[in-house]
Amino acid sequence: MAFLSEALGRINPSPTVGITQKARELKQAGRDVIALSAGEPDFDTPQHIKDAAIAAIQAGKTKYTNIEGIVELREAVSAKFKRDNNLDVAVQETFVATGGKQVIFNALMATLDPGDEVVIPVPYWVSYPDIVLLAGGTPIFARADATTGFKLTPEELEGRITTSTKWLILNSPSNPSGAAYSSAELKALAEVLMRHPQVHVLTDDIYEKLTYEGTFATIAEVEPALYGRTVTLNGVSKSHAMTGWRIGYCAAPLPLIKAMAKLQSQSTTHASSISQWASVAALNGPEDFLDGWRRSFIERRDRVVAGLNAIDGVDCLTPPGAFYVFPSIEGLLGRTSAGGSRIVDDEDFVMALLEEAGVALVHGSAFGLPGHFRLSYAASMVELEAALTRIADFCAGLK
Ligand code: PLP
Repeated sequence: MAFLSEALGRINPSPTVGITQKARELKQAGRDVIALSAGEPDFDTPQHIKDAAIAAIQAGKTKYTNIEGIVELREAVSAKFKRDNNLDVAVQETFVATGGKQVIFNALMATLDPGDEVVIPVPYWVSYPDIVLLAGGTPIFARADATTGFKLTPEELEGRITTSTKWLILNSPSNPSGAAYSSAELKALAEVLMRHPQVHVLTDDIYEKLTYEGTFATIAEVEPALYGRTVTLNGVSKSHAMTGWRIGYCAAPLPLIKAMAKLQSQSTTHASSISQWASVAALNGPEDFLDGWRRSFIERRDRVVAGLNAIDGVDCLTPPGAFYVFPSIEGLLGRTSAGGSRIVDDEDFVMALLEEAGVALVHGSAFGLPGHFRLSYAASMVELEAALTRIADFCAGLK
């Protein structure tokens, strides 16, 4: 009898966490490494949010809370959905979990049985397929590559839906591509979904506040008829630089809220009480700091895109959101690095770049799309300039 479960054998450790760990180890060993592999804003959590957490501790708000989240936070979530997304979400239709990741985990674990299919556009955020597999479902990958601006088309979606499709996962702005859907594009996808009433939508809007071009839109807002089968996921991790506080939330149909609460009651119970109170301050408080953050991200994005496109063999689109670029390096594969590494695929490229040039990126195949890498530009301009020089020199040395 094997000690480790068969379910665990179906999944891989998170590759983004893996590369970041390797970069950290190299740094600890004294190597000069610029890590552009992590998915978190480099800004600090705003002071008013920290103050709210300290006040919560002082007031003794340090005990168990409701499974679904404290009422004050659920009210703030409901108000946020109305204010930002024009969604009428009852407080009972909101749910708070330990990060956006746990919302996804809860929703998929609570609904998937063997044989159930989940349509996932490629490239995808690394955890989607693994959570589907852990839950016993089958990921069905849909093409959303650079030819369509890294976006799923209605035709591709239609072609992937079967009678076994239970979910479509959307993520806009996207990790890893930074692509974002317009209202018209979401409307066209919604028209397909209206023909398939068994399909639910999990829309991961965690990068909503980091939209630089166009207006952010979410599918239940664009097509209200889908509201009853949509999970609209969001969180404070990226919007308020609160990755470590572990708070994610969603709007979802009541039966699913109840199912997620049942599941969570047997796992983490609820998100940290202190983080929940901090998140009340985040959602109800001012957002003026975001303009400065967005300006800074745009400046860094534009510099990085220009720097990468100046490298022969690298081809980079300018993404409208999040803090990643996802360039193609197809033109560099099949060469040998100055250090003697054969660069057959994108994983060879990022490994050789880390070893020889001290820049940590994530290979595109981790996101389901080989021949690319993901660079997170949530780093200082000084680090980005140095990284661009190192990447350019490394690429120039490929023979
Ligand atoms: N969804 C996407 C697309 C992400 O990039 C991330 C984090 O990197 C998450 C969800 C998870 O967010 P959280 O830290 O709130 O669990």
